[in-house]
Amino acid sequence: MIMVEHLTKCYGDFMAVNNLSFEIEEGHVYGFLGPNGAGKSTTMNIMTGCLSATEGTVRIDGYDIFEEPQMAKKLMGYLPEQPPLYLNETPEEYLKFVGAAKGLKGMELARQVEKVMDQTKIGSIRNKMICTLSKGYKQRVGIAQALLGNPKVIILDEPTAGLDPIQMIEIRDLIRRLGESRTVILSSHILSEVQAICEKVLIIAGGRLVAFDAPENLEKLMLSSNGIDFKVEALLEEAEEIMEKLAICEEYTLDEVETGLLKIHVKADMDDVRSVCRRVFFAFAEKQKAIVEMVSKKANLEEVFLELTDGAVSEEREVEKE
Ligand code: ADP
Ligand code: MG
Repeated sequence: MIMVEHLTKCYGDFMAVNNLSFEIEEGHVYGFLGPNGAGKSTTMNIMTGCLSATEGTVRIDGYDIFEEPQMAKKLMGYLPEQPPLYLNETPEEYLKFVGAAKGLKGMELARQVEKVMDQTKIGSIRNKMICTLSKGYKQRVGIAQALLGNPKVIILDEPTAGLDPIQMIEIRDLIRRLGESRTVILSSHILSEVQAICEKVLIIAGGRLVAFDAPENLEKLMLSSNGIDFKVEALLEEAEEIMEKLAICEEYTLDEVETGLLKIHVKADMDDVRSVCRRVFFAFAEKQKAIVEMVSKKANLEEVFLELTDGAVSEEREVEKE
């Protein structure tokens, strides 16, 4: 559906997007996740033909966004980070204007305006001035304009930024519903949000793609931080002997909390945390050593994100001068 290849964008000496390549398949909800300044908006602006690229190509259903912008743009609806709303118009007037600009006319224009107002549930405020609407409703109007023309792909830049928790939930539900019948790409710097809405996550940091996977697989990437923490009543050498015999893994740490009480951390694959727990439990029980606390630790996306973006964010982004 969308092919982005070797996309690079420089602002003067600063490289905002650095050799980004990825493919978006039809019919899924994708999330661009990254800290502020990662290059998400720049990438979206280029993909939607609002900004030129320094290098690289973007193809929408085969149409090159730079060579055949009209054909490519028809396939996409875009809600930029700053929604392009006319504050002194009503949603209905505004949507008619945008629809006409997208080439819709007469009955078809009227039908589509009704449809998108229905989809985004803004019928009740259709005749109010946009400037008087809450941020949540403004955002809905912004999404409604992106839906006009029935594009195959909807691109939403930080659609929930600045919303209160209830508005946030409503907009997320709306996005989920939209994702049932089309391709949706949204950006966010909130991990839990992309985890909740997106089927695939692209983590962008320092202008580069640092990961592209399903949220649950990204968690698996961090197997190293999965493990078990437990406290056992044993002396250091006793515990060491038991752990060596167990030979469950090479990596474990052993700290003495107080005399006769040890804290042990064992690394374990997410899939076998339970079996490791069981073996540890019986090994210590057999030697009459009581485990008084046992917690299995599963890495979350937050940790994955920190791990993956660590190097990339602090890395030099100056364009090399020849
Ligand atoms: P994000 O949307 O992930 O927060 P942006 O794509 O907006 O990131 O910005 C990426 C980087 O490019 C930032 O460091 C930003 O300051 C810089 N940048 C964005 N637009 C411009 C511009 N017009 N001129 C110079 N630098 C820019
Ligand atoms: Mg942005």
